[in-house]
Amino acid sequence: MASDHESRLQERVSELEGELSVLKEEMRRLMHISASKIVADTNVAHVTPNQDCHLKELHKQHIERYSRQLLLPEFGVEGQLHLANSSVLIVGAGGLGCPAALYLAAAGIGRLGIVDYDQVELSNLHRQVLHSEAGVGVSKALSAKASVHRLNSNIRCETHCILLNSTNALDIVNRYDVVVDATDNVATRYLLNDACVLSGKPLVSGGALRFEGQLTTYHYQGGPCYRCLYPEPPLPDTVTNCSDGGVIGAVPGVIGCLQALEVINMISRGQASYSQRLLMFDGETGSFQTIRLRFRQPHCAVCGEKPTITKLVDYVQFCGTSPTDKAESIHLLGDENRISCYEYSKIKEMGIPHILLDVRETVQYNMCRLPESYHMPLDDLMKMTSDQIQDVLKAAKDKAGLTQDTLPPIYAVCRRGNDSQRAIDFMLNCLPEKSRPDMFDLRDGLQAWSNEVDPDFPVY
Ligand SMILES: [Zn+2]
Repeated sequence: MASDHESRLQERVSELEGELSVLKEEMRRLMHISASKIVADTNVAHVTPNQDCHLKELHKQHIERYSRQLLLPEFGVEGQLHLANSSVLIVGAGGLGCPAALYLAAAGIGRLGIVDYDQVELSNLHRQVLHSEAGVGVSKALSAKASVHRLNSNIRCETHCILLNSTNALDIVNRYDVVVDATDNVATRYLLNDACVLSGKPLVSGGALRFEGQLTTYHYQGGPCYRCLYPEPPLPDTVTNCSDGGVIGAVPGVIGCLQALEVINMISRGQASYSQRLLMFDGETGSFQTIRLRFRQPHCAVCGEKPTITKLVDYVQFCGTSPTDKAESIHLLGDENRISCYEYSKIKEMGIPHILLDVRETVQYNMCRLPESYHMPLDDLMKMTSDQIQDVLKAAKDKAGLTQDTLPPIYAVCRRGNDSQRAIDFMLNCLPEKSRPDMFDLRDGLQAWSNEVDPDFPVY
């Protein structure tokens, strides 16, 4: 009974602490607003730190262009002026960043910053709707800027064709009023979170994978930051990105539009819908769900009362992952067990007996494959006993039309050359030495096959 009472009290204490931090933040905000008002009133040019020109009234072209949103009493002229005098930084000109940028530009945001280090690829176009076929190979930030300007030439669009890191993030974030996280990697999420907390900016964070999307707003009016909810990064192997897991293009489209809406609400009316709330969208069933998140944590390392993080740190080291969505190569096998795709193509040409195991998932194998390959998904292989593996290899030998008694050399291939190493490594450890054939993986997988041997083979 006593412990029950105690835990109820503890719960109540943390509730009240949360409410207190909301009130404190609100007070800080009000004091900040009245202070900046005084500055603005005494400043003849009416320039706020982030603005080059301060629009005081709407002109004919604004009224005509934005009439459909001006008609809304909740938005009106005041909302439009707030938008025109505000700036938003979108980090990532991908599946989320494209629709977010598009709707913010269309709505008449004053200044839009777009960060992206990458170039447009053909596989981006099914979801990254600011880019086009003609833009393949072009910087994503520049391609996005061109589209944004085609839509609305009145807004200022600035590009940052760089990979954000702890040396440059604060400087860039500081130049904008709101930040939209439209990336899909954990290291950048922590980096942006800390940069936003340290510079006092709200962060509208989105994510999309497969059929699922998520959205929440961090560090807004006393709400929690990303670290309040996730003090520790997830284990690197547990994180999947769109490049590996796939995504239906319309899903980031939905989330990116909602990120734009959140920013518009925040700027025009001072209201966020997703502070301390997480929106979850299931694109398979078409359902939306919103759950309440925990309060801002007084012990948070960056936004807490005694923060231990007072400057940006090394996020790649902290998360153990790269700050990009590019897959990293593993080095599991020694050179004696690896050959290049070019070398393999010569073995194939000379008709030397061998078995080629394709260890990709079925969905990928169905997309494209080398005709002589035998399909053996890695996940299934790794569950097998030594005898079962021998049976598979014998079946592969028979399918290849090889009549010899002993097993020929085995080559394993996958998409990028990581799983093929895992497969060979597993078999090397599992099979008894006396019955073990020579085994190799094809370096850098089918992507290298396309680059080194057959440019007609698709890269996905
Ligand atoms: Zn926090």
